Amino acid sequence: MALKLPIYMDHHATTPVDPEVLEAMLPYLTEVFGNAASRNHSFGWAAEEGVEKAREKIAQLAGCKPAEMVFTSGATESDNLAVKGVAWAYREKGNHIITCKIEHHAVLDSCKRLEKEGFEVTYLPVDKDGLVDPEDVRRAITERTILITIMYANNEIGTIHPIAEIGRIAKEKGILFHSDAVQAFGKIPCKVDDLNVDLMSMSAHKMYGPKGVGALYVRMGRPRVKLVPIIDGGGHEKGHRSGTLNVPGIVGFGKACEIAERVMAEEAMRLRSLRERLKKYLFGNLDYVHLNGHPEKRLPGNLNVSFEFVEGESILMSLNRDVALSSGSACTSTTLEPSYVIMALGVREERAHSSIRFGLGRGNTEEGVDYVATRVVESVRKLRIMSPLYEMVLQGVTLATS
Ligand SMILES: *Cc1c(COP(=O)(O)O)cnc(C)c1O
Repeated sequence: MALKLPIYMDHHATTPVDPEVLEAMLPYLTEVFGNAASRNHSFGWAAEEGVEKAREKIAQLAGCKPAEMVFTSGATESDNLAVKGVAWAYREKGNHIITCKIEHHAVLDSCKRLEKEGFEVTYLPVDKDGLVDPEDVRRAITERTILITIMYANNEIGTIHPIAEIGRIAKEKGILFHSDAVQAFGKIPCKVDDLNVDLMSMSAHKMYGPKGVGALYVRMGRPRVKLVPIIDGGGHEKGHRSGTLNVPGIVGFGKACEIAERVMAEEAMRLRSLRERLKKYLFGNLDYVHLNGHPEKRLPGNLNVSFEFVEGESILMSLNRDVALSSGSACTSTTLEPSYVIMALGVREERAHSSIRFGLGRGNTEEGVDYVATRVVESVRKLRIMSPLYEMVLQGVTLATS
């Protein structure tokens, strides 16, 4: 079969809607159009039933009670609700929050906002592989700490943080623990009790569901988490999040979770093997390449590589008609700033400028991986011919590289 171009390899930014998901959603965009909050007629009941069935599927994948799932417009909102909602609800108890430098902007910017209101935030560093040390979390805790928020898997370098361990420390100290699990949910096991989390953010469009719908897990017992809502109104979702529910979106999210439950283990194995194939080709055919993130503790579909002496952007530009890749997160791709995530690994700025994120997903094949691998190698070689620095290195000049 001929390879279909362009090849999409940017699954951390978003994923296509699975055909099964679309099929599940369609009736809720047409005949089952009721408002799930309409209690007086069958249109409302049918919509509500769709929502509640979806809630059960999502809760099952997260290993929690359906009632502990709060639907939102996506993980940006879930992160805002978790961080601000906890901060505002517990401000009598304390004003200190612990997070880390490589969180998603939805968490970082919520923390920045809270700092303007008088909260104090500790931004923990990561090691050279992009991992948070649980002992750093322990050391950062004070009498005033009310929330720890550390993501499960990073969206740029794919690193999987030791969440269960951090959660254990939080529990021991009686501090609430939130995790942005967007990149992990549906890809690797995410059971809230195994991870020791009290709040967890999820998004449908990162796992083959539709855009504009997400959820926040909010623990109901031991401890019961209190939240101040960020959206006021009709008191939907137990008062945590007002607003008419996105019924088709939620139904699609539920279906996406059901599929993930079924295919996750096998898909992870397949993507890991594709990822290793890609890595092997790149590292075998180019010199001066560096892996960003941990070699093993990373998402199966994530590979992040720096190609010294070339700009990541230039590689992307030379390929963007045939291959969809990204140099960092989608949110920062409009700026020319180097990735703050790669910079947090303690490397030189050049390395951050020369990085590319490969995000493998359900639609990628061996054939597609081989195509991308050869095209990237070809592009890097071409670009390096134009690099005076690379020329110098070839002639034996030693440069400070990393
Ligand atoms: C995509 C993403 C978000 C934001 O999710 P949306 O549903 O697009 O708002 C938050 N955190 C991480 C880690 C992400 O990858």
